[in-house]
Amino acid sequence: MSNKILITSALPYANGPLHFGHIAGAYLPGDCYARFQRLQGADVLYVCGSDEYGVAITLSADLVGRAPKEHVDLFHAINKQLFEKLGFSFDHYSRTTWEGHVKTTQQFFLDLLENGFIEERVTDQLYSEKENRFLADRYVIGRCPKCHYEGARGDECQKCGASYEATDLVHPHSKLTGSPLVRRPTKHWFLRFDLFKEKLNSWIKDKPWKANVLNFAQSYIDDLRPRAITRDSDWGVKVPLPGTEGKVFYVWFDAPIGYISASQEGFPDRWKEFWLDPETKLVQFIGKDNIPFHAVFFPAMLMGQNQPYKLVDELPANEFLNLEGKQFSKSDGWTIDLERFFQKFTTDQIRYYIAANAPENHDAEFSWKDFQSRCNAELLGKYGNLINRTLVFVQNHSSGIIPQRGELDSVSSAFLEQILRITEEARHAYSHFCLRKAAQCVMELAQAGNVYFDTKKPWLLAKNIETICEMQTCIELVMESIKLLALISSPIIPHTANQAWKLLGFTGTIEHARWDQIVSHNLPSGQKLPQPHVLFQRIEDEMIGPEIEQLHAKKTEVSEAPQITIDDVRKLDLRVGQILSVERVPKSKKMLKLSIALSSGTRTILSGIGEGMTDLTLLIGKKVIVVANLKPATLMGLESEGMILSADTESGIELPLLLEAPIGSCVR
Ligand SMILES: [Zn+2]
Repeated sequence: MSNKILITSALPYANGPLHFGHIAGAYLPGDCYARFQRLQGADVLYVCGSDEYGVAITLSADLVGRAPKEHVDLFHAINKQLFEKLGFSFDHYSRTTWEGHVKTTQQFFLDLLENGFIEERVTDQLYSEKENRFLADRYVIGRCPKCHYEGARGDECQKCGASYEATDLVHPHSKLTGSPLVRRPTKHWFLRFDLFKEKLNSWIKDKPWKANVLNFAQSYIDDLRPRAITRDSDWGVKVPLPGTEGKVFYVWFDAPIGYISASQEGFPDRWKEFWLDPETKLVQFIGKDNIPFHAVFFPAMLMGQNQPYKLVDELPANEFLNLEGKQFSKSDGWTIDLERFFQKFTTDQIRYYIAANAPENHDAEFSWKDFQSRCNAELLGKYGNLINRTLVFVQNHSSGIIPQRGELDSVSSAFLEQILRITEEARHAYSHFCLRKAAQCVMELAQAGNVYFDTKKPWLLAKNIETICEMQTCIELVMESIKLLALISSPIIPHTANQAWKLLGFTGTIEHARWDQIVSHNLPSGQKLPQPHVLFQRIEDEMIGPEIEQLHAKKTEVSEAPQITIDDVRKLDLRVGQILSVERVPKSKKMLKLSIALSSGTRTILSGIGEGMTDLTLLIGKKVIVVANLKPATLMGLESEGMILSADTESGIELPLLLEAPIGSCVR
């Protein structure tokens, strides 16, 4: 029987920094599983990498004024570094912009085309004559065809929830430049997913996956339709056919192929042994939002091409980890500053906490208080305490060497049985993707050791020459439990487990040992132990207090602009004015030319508040706040003598409401 296991974690999008919420879903469970299988002696290949194409990336890059490549280089490096910091054991971490990925993706397409699963269609898409290109949905805004909300997004309306084609929008225009868009026919390639229905149905029916994963996948299979796999853009894997300038693959088409190309890049000589051997077990760790692609679309793509690539065997799909009751959100400041985190806490503390809280069957929660209490009560109070008290005792009462085991009384036999049973439970938990249960086993084992130590009271046995032998047996057994503890905790807290391993007098790392051998070989009596040292520091209130404060302070923070003084504010001459007339500035979606009455006379002011406004006459007579001492400036060829204050919100522009204030009065 083959013992090859190919493990993947979902490719993270190189469009922003990862946070612990991501790590809990597709990553830490994958790393723990890979480490566990290596201990079992399996031949493991664990790959991951950055997903670097797609419209979300070009849009973010455009918004911050970076080239897409610059943008993905930045976040690829940041995310790779985070994985290193967290002690990840990827055999290779790749990226989808390396040239081998292009080749493999294009071959998929050519095979699918040759086998009759791809068809060309000409459809109308939105084109910007100003920018000289087709715009993807995310670049488009316009009026919702259902509720007439102005500023609706290209694929769905954030006001009424309607979803539609971008071409259904009324007055569609570019999010970046405001330029109007026109419909233009363009050719695209569609993958006939509908032709895979039967094959997918018979393939999926005996999969040992969670019920929610199977149900979700099944609903997608029932509804399979042809889907466009290309779009008009210059950022992506190019379509390998003549005359297809400006056509690239949709990111969801090339991204899953990244698992294969990552293996090709990292292991040019060995990747085939894994991907092309039907005996290999393919395990793909994903978040629940990725189920359709891994359970339906990618398997269909694999079925339709010509290489005998492995299809997924196990698909552990996890839920989400939230932060103190809400989703992690970088833009809202609802997140954990990773740099500060690692200055105060250790990798194993966060790995243990996430494993013990793994969002396996429902969403889970990161809470600072809970983090503190688990680290103190469990890692330090149970795990660290058992190891420390035992090893100090060995130094004082056994000359720092592992004593010999004598006859076992009933308490000791029961203890030995118990620790072997917990070890077996941990093995079962790891192999069935129950990381939370595995973390529980770790603490159960530590606790069992502490209880046995307290029950046998070796410090009393050491006082009497007749019970010295019983004391030595007791200590030897407690050390056996520490050995098993190092073993079963090693996938979750590898650094600490290695330290414990060394404290037992072993040279080499526990990663290179084998599970069965560690369990079946008793500790070598007479083995000399090094001086013990503590494995965990206590987390004091003072260490987490500022983190909680920071989180809640950010919630009410409205501005990240630098602070100014009262003198800066006094420099502004804010006055109440009244709009006398208004007209649109030609060729601009949002710019309005306003005549505004102030006590000193009438001013012409240009203001970008016109986007989405249908009835400009509503503005006439309205009182507004004018920055009256702003230096005149030329905008779109017209002179503007001041500016007006307005709120720019998700749902459009809003002006402050002034009723009684006379024209020309000061605002402060
Ligand atoms: Zn709507």
